[in-house]
Formats: sequence, C-alpha cells, structure tokens
Amino acid sequence: MNTAKFEKLLRDEKQQIEKTLSSVGTKNPKVPGDWEPSYPDLNVDPSDRNDMADEVEEFDNALGVETALEEKLREIDAALERIPTGDFGKCAIDGQDIDEARLEANPAATTCIKHSS
Ligand SMILES: [Zn+2]
Repeated sequence: MNTAKFEKLLRDEKQQIEKTLSSVGTKNPKVPGDWEPSYPDLNVDPSDRNDMADEVEEFDNALGVETALEEKLREIDAALERIPTGDFGKCAIDGQDIDEARLEANPAATTCIKHSS
C-alpha cells in the first residue's frame, strides 16, 4: 500500500485542524496535544442577563468544537504512528486490509467497512 499518499493526507488534515483549533482555543503549553477553549470576554454588565447568556452559549459552542477537533487530532496522530510499524490500513478488529477508497475518505479509519459501526 502506498502509505506516503495517506501520510500526506493525514498531515494536511492535521494542519487544517490545528489551524481551526487555534481559532477556537489556545494550545496548552504544559500538555502536548491539549487545547483549551478561549474564554469569552465576560466584561458584560451583570444586569444584562441576555448578554451574559450569549457569552456562556458562545463558550459552550467553542468547547464542543474544541473537544471534537482534539479527538480527531488524536485519531490522526494514532494513524500516523501506525505507518512506521506497518499497521496502517489494517482493520483493528480482524487485521484485514482496509479498502483504499475508505482510507482516502478517512485516512484515520481504524476498521474495515464490515467492522465500522
Ligand atoms: Zn474488519
């Protein structure tokens, strides 16, 4: 299997995600691979409850996006680690080769189509 092609796809996607993450959060300097959502500016008049609710909702959204992207980033890193060991493109359940078309759509896939839920 031509893993170089998939390695490039994974690295491109990783770069894209890190760019998006940096817009919704900041990289935790103490924990590699960990990102923290940016806290909204809470400098709103506490008497203005609507503004406050908006800020909190904005933070909740950022947290959801940040968590999903972080998860995806971990999947990509795990897939990249499987390339040098020769495990890339193998189903984690039965060890069969994952269809290349499936990997092209999602290079971080860990199972064949049969075992995808
Ligand atoms: Zn399988």
